[in-house]
Amino acid sequence: KPQIVWFRRDLRLRDQPALYAAAQRGPIIPVYVLDDERAGDRKLGGASRWWLHHSLESLATGLARHNAKLTLLRGDCVEKLSELAEAVGAETVHAISHYEPWWRKAEEELADRLELDLYDGNYLMPPGSVTTGSGGTYKIFTPFYKALQKALPTFDPLEEPSFTLPDSWPQSDRLEDWDLLPTKPDWAAGLRKTWEVGEGAAHEKLSYFSDIASDYEKGRNLPSVEGTSRLSPHLHWGEISPAQVWKALEGKRGQGVEVFRSELIWRDFAQNILFQFPHYPEENYRERYDGLEWRNPNRGHLIEEDLKAWQQGQTGYPIVDAGMRQLWATGWMHNRVRMIVASFLIKHLLIDWRHGEKWFWDTLVDADYASNGTNWQWVSGTGVDTQLYTRIMAPLSQSAKFSAENYIREWVPELAHLSDEDIHDPSAEKRPESYPERLIEHTEGRERALNAYKAMKAAE
Ligand code: FAD
Repeated sequence: KPQIVWFRRDLRLRDQPALYAAAQRGPIIPVYVLDDERAGDRKLGGASRWWLHHSLESLATGLARHNAKLTLLRGDCVEKLSELAEAVGAETVHAISHYEPWWRKAEEELADRLELDLYDGNYLMPPGSVTTGSGGTYKIFTPFYKALQKALPTFDPLEEPSFTLPDSWPQSDRLEDWDLLPTKPDWAAGLRKTWEVGEGAAHEKLSYFSDIASDYEKGRNLPSVEGTSRLSPHLHWGEISPAQVWKALEGKRGQGVEVFRSELIWRDFAQNILFQFPHYPEENYRERYDGLEWRNPNRGHLIEEDLKAWQQGQTGYPIVDAGMRQLWATGWMHNRVRMIVASFLIKHLLIDWRHGEKWFWDTLVDADYASNGTNWQWVSGTGVDTQLYTRIMAPLSQSAKFSAENYIREWVPELAHLSDEDIHDPSAEKRPESYPERLIEHTEGRERALNAYKAMKAAE
């Protein structure tokens, strides 16, 4: 009998346990369903759609090497997969487990209709499986990190299987008809320039990074240096598995590699939090923050202009603007700068973190429900961790401390002529006319945020 392989964010042929298992059982029918409804307002953002288009193209090319065809369907995934199973006479759908609440629901519904065989493979450990001595789950990173490391198996990533093919292929949409790529305006030129998409590109990146991984600790905080792996979109879309990444670094020692491993574990941690709190990316985990008076349009504040200036990289803070412009141009932003721009939005502009999270959702090629939500709640201090709302990052000193000069020159070219000293904080006479004045001074922004916090506490 034909075996359906349902691809989602696991667009790879190697170390793909669902594909591997299906291939042992019969002819395979690989399928991707574009389901724009189930995720509700978490429909894929623009940058994600761009990536998905190219990643599906790459997956289809990989399958074509085996004379296999990727079937593309659009609509409700449970309906479409049930119809497909009936049409081709399949009984089983093989898929890697996904943990976004809409995927969990779809998996439940599908399992009621036909045999759904789920496999692990997108995380180092399945979310929810790392538990305390008494069987509880972790909400704090460090104990989770320690426990996960103890529980980790020795990874032995699966090879690309060989397939048997069905007698005929089901009807499929054409990828071009899905309109995943922008047309007018075509904002994707920077993305095309920055990224090679697909499984092959992911492995090339990993191989390059594993040679420089020992310098990771030094380089990772410096936005002017390419010191991180840039694997995030490849990992998010499952073009490469975390087990493959872990394996590639096996036997490598040193602080740099250890820190990198801990970042990979952060990815698991975020998923572990989402697994416990499916609404985490939508709601303050600490409910007391529901009482914080953000400057929100629905509370009568006019924040649109500030929000827009932040989105467009026109805040008057060079490091913030460089980051936001890098995001818009490339669909990615350096981690240190993500923290700085997020803190600036939440604290200096006193805008609810969810506005920022949504913008990232739309513009990041690695936009990930769990990682994005967890990191935004981490910066805002509203989440599971002990990070405090009252810890306010100073963007100007962060910029100097992490030597962002060349990064700013690249992304804010109107400041490129300034000296290393001036570029972080161009004084009035050095600021070119084309560059905006600061939206708010650091001390004023800081005070406003602290006062909002005090008012929240007083009202409790
Ligand atoms: P590296 O430094 O090379 O790290 C290796 C891998 O570890 C990354 O590819 C990523 O998969 C994982 N990782 C690293 N840091 C984190 C982290 N803090 N949390 C979770 N996983 C991590 N990452 C996303 O993948 N998707 C998001 O939507 C996302 N949103 C973020 C929002 C904010 C406000 C902040 C502060 C961080 C966010 N991150 C997100 C985490 C981090 O910034 C990116 O994973 C990292 O910058 C990706 O670059 P890299 O692949 O070179 O990372």
